[in-house]
Amino acid sequence: MMLDFDPAVVAFSSQPFWLLWHDRSTGPSRRRRLTMPRGRPSPLLSQLPRRVAPFPGEILSSYLRRLAHANCLDPEALRGHIAGRYRQQSVPADRLAIAAGVPAATLEHALADLDGGKVWIFRLGQIPIHPMTSGPACGLCAFARGATEPVWCRKHPEQVICLRHRRWIGTGAATAQPCLDGQPDILQAHKQHLRLVRRFGREQVMIGFAFADHICRQWHAQRQHDEGFRRRMRIFHGPDWEVPAADPTIAAAAYPQVVALARLLISPYWGSLAVSFYHIEHSLFAQEMQNTVAPGYQWPQPRFSKDPLHRWIIGGNRKSAFDFLPP
Ligand SMILES: [Zn+2]
Repeated sequence: MMLDFDPAVVAFSSQPFWLLWHDRSTGPSRRRRLTMPRGRPSPLLSQLPRRVAPFPGEILSSYLRRLAHANCLDPEALRGHIAGRYRQQSVPADRLAIAAGVPAATLEHALADLDGGKVWIFRLGQIPIHPMTSGPACGLCAFARGATEPVWCRKHPEQVICLRHRRWIGTGAATAQPCLDGQPDILQAHKQHLRLVRRFGREQVMIGFAFADHICRQWHAQRQHDEGFRRRMRIFHGPDWEVPAADPTIAAAAYPQVVALARLLISPYWGSLAVSFYHIEHSLFAQEMQNTVAPGYQWPQPRFSKDPLHRWIIGGNRKSAFDFLPP
């Protein structure tokens, strides 16, 4: 029979459990406690055998999952054990630092929600706006930092592409992160997206992007103004493409048109031309729409047109949307 201290056992799967769930005054756990990092003293908490470096912006649940799996533990059990009497609250940084063997300052700097902050959304009409989202990090960036399983991060809405590896990491990227080497439109749109954020601010662009996305989805559902989208899907999948609705290439292929339309929705200049009383200004708006968003788009639309952009502008949504200041 092999005992706890048998080298073959200590070196294998019993070690993490032994260190976590027992408080013994002698043996390897005592030696480990002598080398604990700084933090709240705890007779029940010791450093796990395998250390895991946090990824910048990583959310706590992702880090705990990776830390637990690296040490052959159940993530929920590990979370409960580290949280201790704070079980119903956020995980204390100093206790996590002891278990992870990583300085508390490093964890606080890297982890996005160690303070217990949650992502929140608000709605403008029917449109949900996400100031921050939780999504997958670029798998290649994570792997380069030693992560062997998916890493989830807190992200701003414009963080949809890893420019270093040219991968889509936006909507749908939890299942796959398509390579964008053959998609210059998407890469160019991302640069424009970042320029818009610098020029108009993150809140304005976030709102404009959400409305533009809503309008483009309606166009595509009606098979309108979707030539560019279909061209990019052919580049991804070939001529006879057919993919599930949640496939990441759908959001990636739609992205250039959404950014282009968001630019016009956000801009006070283009907005004023669209609702002007002068024909020449309508023509300028129509021309810009045709050049950058939808080649066949006509403006103004007939009075009772069901076109989603027409209804959005004529309905007075532009002013109410961009006058709104999120808390
Ligand atoms: Zn990357």
